[in-house]
Amino acid sequence: MRMFEYEGKELLRRLGVAVMPEKTAATVGEAAMCAAALGYPVVVKAQVRAGGRGKAGGVKVARDEAALRAAGAAILGMSIKGERCSLLLIAKAVDIAREFYAGVTLDAAVGRPVLIFSAEGGMDIERVAESAPEKVRKYHLSTLSLPRRHEIQEEVRLAGVEGDTQSKVTSLLLRLISAFFTYDCTTMEINPLAVTTAGECIALDAKVVIDDAALKRQGMTQTDSVPASDLEKRAAAIGVNYVQLRGRVAVIAGGAGLAMASMDLVNQSGCKAASFLDTGGGISSAHTAEALRISLATPGVEGVLINIFGGINNCGEVARGIAAVVDEDRPQAMLVVKMRGYSQDEGWAMLEARRIPIVKYGTTEEAVRILAAGLGVS
Ligand code: GDP
Ligand code: MN
Repeated sequence: MRMFEYEGKELLRRLGVAVMPEKTAATVGEAAMCAAALGYPVVVKAQVRAGGRGKAGGVKVARDEAALRAAGAAILGMSIKGERCSLLLIAKAVDIAREFYAGVTLDAAVGRPVLIFSAEGGMDIERVAESAPEKVRKYHLSTLSLPRRHEIQEEVRLAGVEGDTQSKVTSLLLRLISAFFTYDCTTMEINPLAVTTAGECIALDAKVVIDDAALKRQGMTQTDSVPASDLEKRAAAIGVNYVQLRGRVAVIAGGAGLAMASMDLVNQSGCKAASFLDTGGGISSAHTAEALRISLATPGVEGVLINIFGGINNCGEVARGIAAVVDEDRPQAMLVVKMRGYSQDEGWAMLEARRIPIVKYGTTEEAVRILAAGLGVS
C-alpha cells in the first residue's frame, strides 16, 4: 500500500526522524488557518501518491497569506500523473543548504533490503544514478539484525559527507532503517533529506510503501487501491482475482497458473478471453455463484470456461454455486466445465443434471474445443 507523504512522515517521526511541523488541509481556507498556526513561510504540497510533484508544480513555498491562498488554489484539484489532488499538506518551510537522497527498498536481484544513499540527487537522483553511479551508495541489509553504526557511517563518508553532518545523517539513516523494518515496508524513501542552513538534518518528503501482506498485523487498512470497475469491486469483495479483458470467453479457474494457462488456450483457439478470474483455494458455493455472475456480466461474454482442480477447492461446493446460477439466472452464455478431484462425483452429478458439458478425465484443450465449437469458432 502506497502512503501519502504526510502518513509516511508520521511513521518516520515515530522512530525519531526529524520532520517539520505540518498539517493537512482540504480547502484553501483551512490551509490559511494551518499556515497561521505554523507560522510563515510554509510549503504547500499536493498530497497525491505519484512522485515528481515538485516538477509538476505541486510544491510551492508561500511567505504570506496571499501567496498561500494562490498556491492552495492552484494545487487543489490539480492532476498529477492522472491523480487528482484533493488534499494539501502545509509544512513549515526550511532554508535548505544541501539536499541528499536516502531510501531503503527491496533488492529483488540480491534478495535483501538495500539502503541507498546519495549526497547528490535530490529531485534528480535517477539522473545521478545513470551518469555517476559511484556517487549512489548501496548497502545491503540483513533481515535478522540492524546494521552497526560504524557500517552506515562509512557509507555516508564514502558518499562524501564530512564532519558533524556525517554523524547526523548516520543517525537519521539508522532511524530510517528501523522504521523500514518496524512498519514492514517494501520501500521507504526520503528525498530530499535536507541539511538546513542551521545544520539540521530533516526529512522533507517521504515515500512509503507498506507490504500488503503485512497490513493486518500493522493494524492498517488498504486505502490506495481504487478498483477500476464495478465488476472488479464485486470481485474484490469476495476475495477473488478478476481482470476484465476484451474477448468472448470468460475464464474461471482455481489458481492463477491454471487460469493463465486456460486463458492462453482460449486465445489460441481463436475465441479470445473476455475475463480472467482466479478463485483461489477453498471457494464456497456462494462465492462461486458470485464469481460466475461477475464473469457472465462481463461485456462481450458468450461462453464461460470453468477449470477447477479439486485439491483445496471442493468440486461439490463449486458445482453447487454453478447450479444455483444456472437454475436462478438461466444464462444465455455457454458454460463448459473441466473439473476433477475432491468431491468430483457429487459435482459432476449436479452439472450433468443440468446438461452442462463437463470434461471429466480429459484436458483443458478438450474443454476449449467444445466451447469453441459451441461458439462456431473452429
Ligand atoms: P516531489 O517532487 O514529489 O518529490 O516533492 P518533494 O516533497 O520532494 O518537494 C520537491 C522539492 O521542493 C524538494 O526537492 C525541495 O527542493 C523543495 N522543498 C520541499 N520542502 C521545502 C522547504 O521546506 N523549503 C524549501 N525551500 N524547499 C522545499
Ligand atoms: Mn521528493
